[in-house]
Amino acid sequence: MSVRPYRDIDRRKSRQISVGNVLVGGDAPITVQTMTNTLTADAKATIAQIQACADAGADIVRVSCPDEASTAAMPEIVKASPVPIVADIHFHYKRAIEAAEAGAACLRINPGNIGSADRVREVVKAAKDHGCSIRVGVNAGSLEKHLLEKYGEPCPEAMVESALDHLRILEDNDFFETKISVKASDVFLAVAAYQGLADACDYPLHLGITEAGGFRIGSVKSSIGMGMLLWSGIGDTIRVSLSSDPVDEVKVGFDILKSLNLRHRGVNVISCPSCARQQFDVIKTVEVLEQRLAHITTPMTLSVIGCVVNGPGEARETDIGFTGGGKGTHQVYIAGLPHHRLKDDKIVDHLVSLVEEKAAEIERELATEKKAIAVPPAAS
Ligand code: SF4
Repeated sequence: MSVRPYRDIDRRKSRQISVGNVLVGGDAPITVQTMTNTLTADAKATIAQIQACADAGADIVRVSCPDEASTAAMPEIVKASPVPIVADIHFHYKRAIEAAEAGAACLRINPGNIGSADRVREVVKAAKDHGCSIRVGVNAGSLEKHLLEKYGEPCPEAMVESALDHLRILEDNDFFETKISVKASDVFLAVAAYQGLADACDYPLHLGITEAGGFRIGSVKSSIGMGMLLWSGIGDTIRVSLSSDPVDEVKVGFDILKSLNLRHRGVNVISCPSCARQQFDVIKTVEVLEQRLAHITTPMTLSVIGCVVNGPGEARETDIGFTGGGKGTHQVYIAGLPHHRLKDDKIVDHLVSLVEEKAAEIERELATEKKAIAVPPAAS
């Protein structure tokens, strides 16, 4: 039992698969995905967007392959990408084979939509030959006709049945490197479908609230839906779907995982909403700080609190703390303890350099630990 059991998340035991060099499921960290919205045939633009997403922390990026021109660009994209690429295929089995040959790490394709058994066999063979995994992606908006007739409307049971039908086709072809999603834009429907699927199989699950909307409402819906599932231990990889820049999807995805202590990346800024007691402009300071600290990937915490009401308490729990004090003299805390005072000017510059120093120190310690593990001491 941990020191704070109320923070423990008991993850569902899923089987582990590989998406290129990234593991998904089992005890692998929950990964963050996004999808490009450039024309895939425009390899240069697509590669630039993938790079921006990877810089923001994306572990895996999906690229749609609606036509031959897209799969023709895939070898160049895969070669230049710093993260594994998932090829998004709808219906056309030839695009799937081309994408596998081009080096895609995973195919997003529903075998039930490909057509004949021969075509499924060909796609599975290409996936096996080229080391691709497959994501079965069920969507409430495109359920099979016979399931809609059976259930009357998109419902959790219909979505789970659809997913299991697609899975069975892959299993009949001896293919098990599969992850699954059952997405819906309705939070209740998506959550219930994922819960049903989590009980029905042990494949890793790719979470998403699809067509969630613009940046603000989409982030809220995704946080509620995926948050409930992740909190209950369900989910191995996530994609936040926003009508916004894919980089925003990555940032929100990480923030969801960070909020649940499931991943740690970059500076977790804890700040107060500010009020009449604030001793410096909290909102403006935090806004600029977040921009200036975006390049830090080392996991660490920074509290920026307007006054002594909550400042010392929050600082106790963070790597670096900053609390507004009277007469323009503020208190800086390091590792929870008061360290030095700072006059009003240059608050942001001062905090940025403290964070950069702390990040470098943490990285040095991690490198030393890694070295010690890599070179075990000689036996005496
Ligand atoms: S910490 Fe101080 S400034 Fe911030 S909201 Fe609370 S009382 Fe107001």
